[in-house]
Amino acid sequence: MPLDDLDRTHLARAVVLAREALLDGDEPFGSVLVDATGAVRFEDRNRTKDGDQTRHPEFEIARWAANNLTPDERATATVYTSGEHCPMCSAAHAWVGLGRIAYAASSAQITGWRASWGGSPSPVAPLPIQDIAPGIVVDGPEPSLEDDVKELQRRSFERG
Ligand SMILES: [Zn+2]
Repeated sequence: MPLDDLDRTHLARAVVLAREALLDGDEPFGSVLVDATGAVRFEDRNRTKDGDQTRHPEFEIARWAANNLTPDERATATVYTSGEHCPMCSAAHAWVGLGRIAYAASSAQITGWRASWGGSPSPVAPLPIQDIAPGIVVDGPEPSLEDDVKELQRRSFERG
């Protein structure tokens, strides 16, 4: 389904969380879990600065959902995220039976930006979510948030 105003509101919150992560020394990624009633059930942001590179918010959401939501609640929930799920998080999302994903910027966009700034490739291939989890409904990117996400990524890249 196309992104609507409510989707954009949740995506904007994910970008706010990404900014918080950047300002706290982590990588600029944030995510929000919204249930079928529209209630925000959980949110988190990247926490990799202390050395555990698996501390992605989308992975944290999958773990939280497995422990706190019924299978039906998980299947009907939407995860909003500032940047498209990486393969690790796509797999975790699918393994716990979560529903739709909406992202502000795609992995291809972020990878392209970092390459244009002279970055070296990520140790994990930037595969689209549906290459990892073909059953998941995925929407994005959201053009109105592209500049914000790109700026956060640029500041993170320049910080090193
Ligand atoms: Zn991830």
